[in-house]
Amino acid sequence: MKKIILKKGRERSLERRHVWIYSGAIAEIPVSPLSGETVEVFSHDGKFLARGAYSTAQSSIAVKIWTFEKEEEIDEAFFRRRLENAFLLRKRVFGETLPNAFRLVNAESDLLPGLIADLYGKYAVIQITSAGMDRYRETIGKLLLEYAYGVYERSDVESRKRDLLEPRTGHLAGETLPKEIFFTENGVRFSVDPVNGQKTGFYLDQRENRAIVAQTLKGCRNVLNAFSYTGGFGLAALKGGAEKVLNVDSSLPALEQSEKLASLNGFPQERFSTLCADVFTFLRKCRDCGRTFDAIILDPPKFAESVKQKERAARAYKDINLLAMKLLEKGGFLFTFSCSGAMEEELFRKVVDSAAEDAKRDFRITRILSQGPDHPVSAFFPEGRYLKGLCGVLL
Ligand code: SAH
Repeated sequence: MKKIILKKGRERSLERRHVWIYSGAIAEIPVSPLSGETVEVFSHDGKFLARGAYSTAQSSIAVKIWTFEKEEEIDEAFFRRRLENAFLLRKRVFGETLPNAFRLVNAESDLLPGLIADLYGKYAVIQITSAGMDRYRETIGKLLLEYAYGVYERSDVESRKRDLLEPRTGHLAGETLPKEIFFTENGVRFSVDPVNGQKTGFYLDQRENRAIVAQTLKGCRNVLNAFSYTGGFGLAALKGGAEKVLNVDSSLPALEQSEKLASLNGFPQERFSTLCADVFTFLRKCRDCGRTFDAIILDPPKFAESVKQKERAARAYKDINLLAMKLLEKGGFLFTFSCSGAMEEELFRKVVDSAAEDAKRDFRITRILSQGPDHPVSAFFPEGRYLKGLCGVLL
Protein backbone atom coordinates (compact mmCIF):
# COMPACT_ATOMS: atom_id res chain seq x y z
CA MET A 1 0.00 0.00 0.00
CA LYS A 2 1.27 3.48 -0.86
CA LYS A 3 2.45 5.67 1.96
CA ILE A 4 1.97 9.22 3.18
CA ILE A 5 4.43 10.62 5.68
CA LEU A 6 3.39 13.54 7.81
CA LYS A 7 5.46 16.48 8.96
CA LYS A 8 6.75 16.40 12.51
CA GLY A 9 3.99 17.33 14.98
CA ARG A 10 1.22 17.00 12.42
CA GLU A 11 0.23 13.56 13.73
CA ARG A 12 -1.53 15.28 16.62
CA SER A 13 -4.88 15.82 14.95
CA LEU A 14 -4.96 12.16 13.91
CA GLU A 15 -4.12 11.13 17.46
CA ARG A 16 -7.20 13.11 18.43
CA ARG A 17 -9.05 11.05 15.83
CA HIS A 18 -9.85 13.86 13.46
CA VAL A 19 -10.59 12.24 10.10
CA TRP A 20 -9.07 14.75 7.68
CA ILE A 21 -5.45 15.34 6.70
CA TYR A 22 -4.75 18.69 5.07
CA SER A 23 -2.20 18.78 2.26
CA GLY A 24 -0.05 21.18 4.32
CA ALA A 25 0.52 18.45 6.93
CA ILE A 26 2.21 16.09 4.47
CA ALA A 27 6.01 15.86 4.38
CA GLU A 28 6.43 13.17 1.75
CA ILE A 29 4.52 10.97 -0.68
CA PRO A 30 7.10 8.44 -1.93
CA VAL A 31 4.88 7.03 -4.72
CA SER A 32 1.93 9.08 -5.96
CA PRO A 33 -1.40 7.40 -5.26
CA LEU A 34 -4.34 7.64 -7.66
CA SER A 35 -7.33 9.67 -6.66
CA GLY A 36 -9.38 7.80 -4.10
CA GLU A 37 -6.72 5.14 -3.56
CA THR A 38 -6.33 3.80 -0.02
CA VAL A 39 -3.03 4.85 1.55
CA GLU A 40 -1.29 4.28 4.87
CA VAL A 41 -0.40 7.33 6.91
CA PHE A 42 2.75 7.45 9.01
CA SER A 43 4.23 9.99 11.40
CA HIS A 44 7.61 11.57 10.55
CA ASP A 45 9.31 8.89 12.66
CA GLY A 46 7.59 5.97 10.98
CA LYS A 47 4.70 5.26 13.35
CA PHE A 48 1.53 3.89 11.73
CA LEU A 49 -1.32 6.38 12.25
CA ALA A 50 -4.20 5.52 9.98
CA ARG A 51 -5.46 4.22 6.69
CA GLY A 52 -7.42 6.58 4.47
CA ALA A 53 -8.42 7.59 0.96
CA TYR A 54 -6.13 9.93 -0.92
CA SER A 55 -7.46 12.76 -3.02
CA THR A 56 -5.34 14.15 -5.84
CA ALA A 57 -7.61 17.12 -6.41
CA GLN A 58 -7.05 20.79 -5.62
CA SER A 59 -8.94 20.11 -2.44
CA SER A 60 -6.96 21.11 0.63
CA ILE A 61 -8.08 17.86 2.29
CA ALA A 62 -5.57 15.32 1.00
CA VAL A 63 -6.66 12.25 2.94
CA LYS A 64 -9.95 11.21 4.50
CA ILE A 65 -9.43 8.55 7.12
CA TRP A 66 -11.10 5.15 6.99
CA THR A 67 -9.57 3.64 10.11
CA PHE A 68 -7.06 4.22 12.88
CA GLU A 69 -6.67 0.47 13.48
CA LYS A 70 -3.57 -1.07 11.95
CA GLU A 71 -5.29 -4.45 11.63
CA GLU A 72 -8.41 -3.18 9.90
CA GLU A 73 -8.52 -3.84 6.14
CA ILE A 74 -10.65 -1.62 3.90
CA ASP A 75 -12.87 -4.19 2.25
CA GLU A 76 -16.52 -5.15 2.00
CA ALA A 77 -16.54 -6.43 5.59
CA PHE A 78 -15.21 -3.06 6.75
CA PHE A 79 -18.09 -1.17 5.12
CA ARG A 80 -20.57 -3.74 6.40
CA ARG A 81 -19.34 -3.15 9.99
CA ARG A 82 -19.50 0.63 9.60
CA LEU A 83 -23.08 0.46 8.28
CA GLU A 84 -24.08 -1.90 11.08
CA ASN A 85 -22.66 0.50 13.65
CA ALA A 86 -24.49 3.42 12.09
CA PHE A 87 -27.76 1.47 12.14
CA LEU A 88 -27.21 0.35 15.73
CA LEU A 89 -26.68 3.93 16.84
CA ARG A 90 -30.00 4.98 15.27
CA LYS A 91 -31.75 2.08 16.94
CA ARG A 92 -30.32 3.14 20.29
CA VAL A 93 -31.14 6.85 20.00
CA PHE A 94 -34.64 6.33 18.68
CA GLY A 95 -35.55 3.43 20.95
CA GLU A 96 -37.62 0.54 19.67
CA THR A 97 -39.48 2.46 16.98
CA LEU A 98 -37.26 3.91 14.31
CA PRO A 99 -38.79 6.83 12.44
CA ASN A 100 -40.26 6.09 9.05
CA ALA A 101 -37.57 8.17 7.41
CA PHE A 102 -34.15 8.90 8.87
CA ARG A 103 -30.49 9.42 8.04
CA LEU A 104 -28.72 6.09 8.29
CA VAL A 105 -25.23 7.38 7.49
CA ASN A 106 -23.98 10.86 8.29
CA ALA A 107 -20.58 10.82 6.59
CA GLU A 108 -17.58 11.67 8.81
CA SER A 109 -19.62 11.42 12.00
CA ASP A 110 -20.30 7.75 11.23
CA LEU A 111 -16.69 7.24 10.18
CA LEU A 112 -17.77 6.97 6.56
CA PRO A 113 -16.40 10.17 5.03
CA GLY A 114 -18.03 11.09 1.75
CA LEU A 115 -21.22 9.07 2.26
CA ILE A 116 -24.72 10.20 3.14
CA ALA A 117 -27.49 7.61 3.17
CA ASP A 118 -31.10 8.53 3.88
CA LEU A 119 -33.82 5.94 4.32
CA TYR A 120 -37.39 6.71 3.29
CA GLY A 121 -39.56 3.80 4.27
CA LYS A 122 -37.98 0.85 2.49
CA TYR A 123 -35.84 2.81 0.06
CA ALA A 124 -32.46 4.46 0.34
CA VAL A 125 -31.19 7.58 -1.39
CA ILE A 126 -27.47 8.13 -1.12
CA GLN A 127 -24.96 10.82 -1.95
CA ILE A 128 -21.25 10.24 -2.47
CA THR A 129 -18.95 13.24 -2.29
CA SER A 130 -15.39 11.93 -2.05
CA ALA A 131 -13.06 10.16 -4.45
CA GLY A 132 -12.37 7.51 -1.82
CA MET A 133 -16.02 6.64 -1.28
CA ASP A 134 -16.71 6.80 -5.00
CA ARG A 135 -14.51 3.74 -5.48
CA TYR A 136 -16.80 1.76 -3.22
CA ARG A 137 -20.15 2.86 -4.60
CA GLU A 138 -21.09 -0.62 -5.86
CA THR A 139 -20.15 -2.16 -2.52
CA ILE A 140 -22.16 0.45 -0.63
CA GLY A 141 -25.16 -0.09 -2.91
CA LYS A 142 -25.04 -3.84 -2.36
CA LEU A 143 -24.57 -3.57 1.41
CA LEU A 144 -27.44 -1.10 1.76
CA LEU A 145 -29.79 -3.78 0.48
CA GLU A 146 -29.65 -5.11 4.05
CA TYR A 147 -31.61 -1.97 5.02
CA ALA A 148 -33.58 -1.10 1.89
CA TYR A 149 -35.27 -2.75 -1.10
CA GLY A 150 -33.65 -0.37 -3.52
CA VAL A 151 -30.91 2.26 -3.58
CA TYR A 152 -30.85 5.41 -5.71
CA GLU A 153 -27.80 7.65 -6.06
CA ARG A 154 -28.09 11.45 -5.98
CA SER A 155 -24.44 12.44 -6.23
CA ASP A 156 -25.19 15.69 -8.01
CA VAL A 157 -23.67 18.17 -5.58
CA GLU A 158 -21.10 20.91 -6.12
CA SER A 159 -18.78 19.49 -3.45
CA ARG A 160 -17.93 16.52 -5.71
CA LYS A 161 -15.98 18.91 -7.91
CA ARG A 162 -13.43 19.32 -5.13
CA ASP A 163 -12.49 15.67 -5.67
CA LEU A 164 -12.73 16.03 -9.47
CA LEU A 165 -15.80 13.81 -9.61
CA GLU A 166 -18.53 14.26 -12.21
CA PRO A 167 -22.09 14.49 -10.98
CA ARG A 168 -23.82 11.11 -11.01
CA THR A 169 -27.45 10.17 -10.45
CA GLY A 170 -29.38 6.98 -11.05
CA HIS A 171 -30.40 3.58 -9.85
CA LEU A 172 -27.63 1.90 -7.87
CA ALA A 173 -28.90 -1.37 -6.42
CA GLY A 174 -31.95 -3.55 -5.79
CA GLU A 175 -35.43 -2.53 -6.83
CA THR A 176 -36.09 0.55 -8.90
CA LEU A 177 -37.39 3.28 -6.63
CA PRO A 178 -40.95 4.50 -7.12
CA LYS A 179 -41.36 8.05 -8.47
CA GLU A 180 -42.82 9.05 -5.15
CA ILE A 181 -41.93 7.46 -1.81
CA PHE A 182 -44.39 8.01 1.03
CA PHE A 183 -43.52 8.19 4.70
CA THR A 184 -44.85 9.67 7.92
CA GLU A 185 -43.09 12.14 10.17
CA ASN A 186 -44.60 13.18 13.51
CA GLY A 187 -48.01 12.07 12.24
CA VAL A 188 -47.78 14.07 9.00
CA ARG A 189 -47.81 12.25 5.67
CA PHE A 190 -44.95 13.22 3.37
CA SER A 191 -43.50 12.00 0.13
CA VAL A 192 -40.22 12.52 -1.65
CA ASP A 193 -39.32 12.45 -5.29
CA PRO A 194 -35.89 10.77 -5.25
CA VAL A 195 -35.06 11.80 -8.83
CA ASN A 196 -36.11 15.47 -8.86
CA GLY A 197 -36.21 16.49 -5.19
CA GLN A 198 -33.51 18.70 -3.67
CA LYS A 199 -30.45 16.91 -2.23
CA THR A 200 -31.55 13.38 -1.28
CA GLY A 201 -35.21 14.49 -1.32
CA PHE A 202 -36.07 15.74 2.15
CA TYR A 203 -34.52 17.77 4.99
CA LEU A 204 -34.53 15.04 7.61
CA ASP A 205 -32.27 17.05 9.91
CA GLN A 206 -35.24 19.25 10.89
CA ARG A 207 -37.53 16.42 12.05
CA GLU A 208 -37.39 17.28 15.77
CA ASN A 209 -37.64 21.01 15.09
CA ARG A 210 -40.76 20.43 13.00
CA ALA A 211 -42.21 18.59 16.03
CA ILE A 212 -41.37 21.60 18.22
CA VAL A 213 -43.00 23.93 15.68
CA ALA A 214 -46.15 21.78 15.76
CA GLN A 215 -46.26 21.98 19.53
CA THR A 216 -45.41 25.68 19.80
CA LEU A 217 -47.55 27.22 17.09
CA LYS A 218 -50.85 25.72 18.20
CA GLY A 219 -53.54 28.34 17.74
CA CYS A 220 -51.40 30.72 15.66
CA ARG A 221 -53.66 32.42 13.12
CA ASN A 222 -51.19 33.54 10.57
CA VAL A 223 -47.90 31.67 10.11
CA LEU A 224 -45.24 32.49 7.53
CA ASN A 225 -43.09 29.51 6.51
CA ALA A 226 -40.24 31.12 4.60
CA PHE A 227 -37.94 28.89 2.49
CA SER A 228 -40.65 26.25 2.77
CA TYR A 229 -39.43 23.63 0.25
CA THR A 230 -42.14 20.91 0.23
CA GLY A 231 -43.91 22.50 3.20
CA GLY A 232 -42.37 20.53 6.07
CA PHE A 233 -42.69 23.20 8.78
CA GLY A 234 -46.00 24.49 7.42
CA LEU A 235 -47.66 21.07 7.48
CA ALA A 236 -46.26 20.44 10.96
CA ALA A 237 -47.72 23.75 12.17
CA LEU A 238 -51.18 22.87 10.81
CA LYS A 239 -50.98 19.40 12.31
CA GLY A 240 -50.18 20.99 15.66
CA GLY A 241 -53.21 23.25 15.46
CA ALA A 242 -52.09 26.46 13.76
CA GLU A 243 -54.93 27.97 11.74
CA LYS A 244 -53.23 29.18 8.57
CA VAL A 245 -49.81 28.99 6.93
CA LEU A 246 -48.34 30.84 3.98
CA ASN A 247 -45.41 28.94 2.43
CA VAL A 248 -42.88 30.95 0.43
CA ASP A 249 -40.15 29.40 -1.70
CA SER A 250 -38.42 30.16 -5.00
CA SER A 251 -38.90 26.61 -6.28
CA LEU A 252 -42.22 26.10 -8.02
CA PRO A 253 -41.95 22.27 -8.16
CA ALA A 254 -41.33 22.21 -4.38
CA LEU A 255 -44.39 24.38 -3.77
CA GLU A 256 -46.55 22.26 -6.06
CA GLN A 257 -45.43 19.20 -4.15
CA SER A 258 -46.26 20.94 -0.85
CA GLU A 259 -49.81 21.62 -2.07
CA LYS A 260 -50.25 17.96 -2.95
CA LEU A 261 -49.02 17.02 0.52
CA ALA A 262 -51.41 19.49 2.16
CA SER A 263 -54.35 17.84 0.46
CA LEU A 264 -52.97 14.36 1.21
CA ASN A 265 -53.09 15.37 4.88
CA GLY A 266 -56.58 16.75 4.53
CA PHE A 267 -55.71 20.43 5.02
CA PRO A 268 -57.93 22.72 2.93
CA GLN A 269 -56.49 25.44 0.69
CA GLU A 270 -57.71 28.21 3.02
CA ARG A 271 -55.30 26.91 5.63
CA PHE A 272 -52.29 26.14 3.42
CA SER A 273 -51.30 28.62 0.74
CA THR A 274 -48.11 28.97 -1.29
CA LEU A 275 -46.25 31.76 -3.01
CA CYS A 276 -43.37 31.39 -5.43
CA ALA A 277 -41.10 34.31 -4.61
CA ASP A 278 -37.70 35.40 -3.42
CA VAL A 279 -37.97 35.56 0.37
CA PHE A 280 -35.76 38.67 0.63
CA THR A 281 -38.05 40.59 -1.74
CA PHE A 282 -41.22 39.19 -0.19
CA LEU A 283 -40.22 40.22 3.35
CA ARG A 284 -39.44 43.76 2.12
CA LYS A 285 -42.81 43.99 0.41
CA CYS A 286 -44.56 42.90 3.61
CA ARG A 287 -42.64 45.54 5.57
CA ASP A 288 -43.54 48.24 3.06
CA CYS A 289 -47.24 47.44 3.09
CA GLY A 290 -47.48 46.74 6.82
CA ARG A 291 -48.36 43.03 6.53
CA THR A 292 -47.74 41.12 9.76
CA PHE A 293 -47.64 37.51 11.03
CA ASP A 294 -47.98 35.89 14.44
CA ALA A 295 -45.26 33.31 13.70
CA ILE A 296 -42.40 33.17 11.21
CA ILE A 297 -40.12 30.27 10.31
CA LEU A 298 -36.89 31.10 8.50
CA ASP A 299 -35.06 28.04 7.19
CA PRO A 300 -32.86 29.37 4.39
CA PRO A 301 -30.38 27.35 2.31
CA LYS A 302 -26.69 27.43 3.14
CA PHE A 303 -25.61 31.06 2.62
CA ALA A 304 -21.93 30.30 3.36
CA GLU A 305 -20.33 27.47 1.40
CA SER A 306 -16.96 28.20 2.98
CA VAL A 307 -15.35 30.30 5.68
CA LYS A 308 -14.50 32.89 3.00
CA GLN A 309 -18.18 33.60 2.45
CA LYS A 310 -18.93 33.93 6.14
CA GLU A 311 -19.20 37.72 6.21
CA ARG A 312 -21.47 37.96 3.24
CA ALA A 313 -23.58 35.16 4.67
CA ALA A 314 -23.80 36.95 8.03
CA ARG A 315 -25.24 40.00 6.23
CA ALA A 316 -27.86 37.86 4.49
CA TYR A 317 -28.87 36.20 7.79
CA LYS A 318 -29.05 39.60 9.45
CA ASP A 319 -31.21 40.95 6.64
CA ILE A 320 -33.90 38.25 6.79
CA ASN A 321 -33.93 38.09 10.59
CA LEU A 322 -34.24 41.86 10.92
CA LEU A 323 -37.10 41.95 8.42
CA ALA A 324 -38.85 38.99 10.06
CA MET A 325 -38.66 40.64 13.46
CA LYS A 326 -40.25 43.77 12.06
CA LEU A 327 -43.13 41.74 10.62
CA LEU A 328 -43.90 39.85 13.81
CA GLU A 329 -46.83 40.89 15.92
CA LYS A 330 -46.29 41.44 19.63
CA GLY A 331 -45.90 38.03 21.26
CA GLY A 332 -45.23 36.37 17.88
CA PHE A 333 -42.91 33.40 17.51
CA LEU A 334 -39.73 33.31 15.46
CA PHE A 335 -37.98 30.09 14.47
CA THR A 336 -34.74 30.96 12.74
CA PHE A 337 -32.12 28.56 11.37
CA SER A 338 -28.73 28.45 9.72
CA CYS A 339 -27.41 25.31 8.07
CA SER A 340 -24.07 26.87 7.07
CA GLY A 341 -21.39 24.76 8.70
CA ALA A 342 -18.87 27.55 8.04
CA MET A 343 -20.80 29.87 10.33
CA GLU A 344 -20.31 29.07 14.02
CA GLU A 345 -23.16 29.01 16.49
CA GLU A 346 -21.69 32.00 18.32
CA LEU A 347 -21.72 34.16 15.19
CA PHE A 348 -25.27 33.11 14.31
CA ARG A 349 -26.38 34.09 17.83
CA LYS A 350 -24.68 37.48 17.42
CA VAL A 351 -26.32 38.09 14.05
CA VAL A 352 -29.76 37.36 15.49
CA ASP A 353 -29.06 39.50 18.58
CA SER A 354 -28.03 42.43 16.43
CA ALA A 355 -31.10 41.98 14.22
CA ALA A 356 -33.24 42.31 17.37
CA GLU A 357 -31.32 45.38 18.40
CA ASP A 358 -31.79 47.04 15.00
CA ALA A 359 -35.45 46.03 14.86
CA LYS A 360 -35.82 47.54 18.36
CA ARG A 361 -37.54 44.37 19.52
CA ASP A 362 -36.97 42.30 22.60
CA PHE A 363 -36.34 38.76 21.35
CA ARG A 364 -36.73 36.27 24.19
CA ILE A 365 -35.00 33.09 23.13
CA THR A 366 -36.85 30.11 24.52
CA ARG A 367 -35.08 27.23 22.80
CA ILE A 368 -31.72 26.52 21.24
CA LEU A 369 -32.17 24.10 18.38
CA SER A 370 -29.92 21.75 16.46
CA GLN A 371 -29.94 18.82 14.05
CA GLY A 372 -31.74 15.57 14.95
CA PRO A 373 -30.08 12.55 16.58
CA ASP A 374 -29.79 10.69 13.27
CA HIS A 375 -27.33 13.46 12.30
CA PRO A 376 -24.84 12.76 15.10
CA VAL A 377 -21.70 14.84 15.48
CA SER A 378 -18.47 13.12 16.37
CA ALA A 379 -16.62 14.87 19.20
CA PHE A 380 -13.56 14.53 16.98
CA PHE A 381 -15.29 16.21 14.06
CA PRO A 382 -16.87 19.49 15.18
CA GLU A 383 -17.28 20.44 11.49
CA GLY A 384 -20.26 18.07 11.48
CA ARG A 385 -22.26 20.40 13.71
CA TYR A 386 -23.82 22.52 11.00
CA LEU A 387 -27.49 23.11 11.82
CA LYS A 388 -28.31 25.69 14.44
CA GLY A 389 -31.55 27.36 15.28
CA LEU A 390 -33.22 29.65 17.77
CA CYS A 391 -36.81 29.80 18.80
CA GLY A 392 -38.27 32.64 20.76
CA VAL A 393 -40.93 35.27 21.24
CA LEU A 394 -40.81 38.85 20.00
CA LEU A 395 -42.03 41.27 22.63
N1 SAH B 1 -37.73 24.15 5.61
C1 SAH B 1 -37.63 23.17 4.57
C2 SAH B 1 -36.25 23.11 3.97
C3 SAH B 1 -35.75 24.41 3.37
S1 SAH B 1 -34.39 24.22 2.31
C4 SAH B 1 -38.09 21.82 5.10
O1 SAH B 1 -38.32 21.68 6.32
O2 SAH B 1 -38.22 20.89 4.31
C5 SAH B 1 -34.21 25.81 1.64
C6 SAH B 1 -35.25 26.20 0.62
O3 SAH B 1 -35.02 27.56 0.27
C7 SAH B 1 -35.22 25.44 -0.70
O4 SAH B 1 -36.49 24.87 -0.92
C8 SAH B 1 -34.93 26.49 -1.79
O5 SAH B 1 -35.70 26.28 -2.97
C9 SAH B 1 -35.36 27.76 -1.11
N2 SAH B 1 -34.71 29.02 -1.52
C10 SAH B 1 -33.39 29.25 -1.72
N3 SAH B 1 -33.17 30.57 -1.93
C11 SAH B 1 -34.37 31.19 -1.86
C12 SAH B 1 -34.81 32.54 -1.97
N4 SAH B 1 -33.94 33.54 -2.17
N5 SAH B 1 -36.12 32.82 -1.82
C13 SAH B 1 -37.01 31.82 -1.61
N6 SAH B 1 -36.65 30.53 -1.47
C14 SAH B 1 -35.36 30.21 -1.60
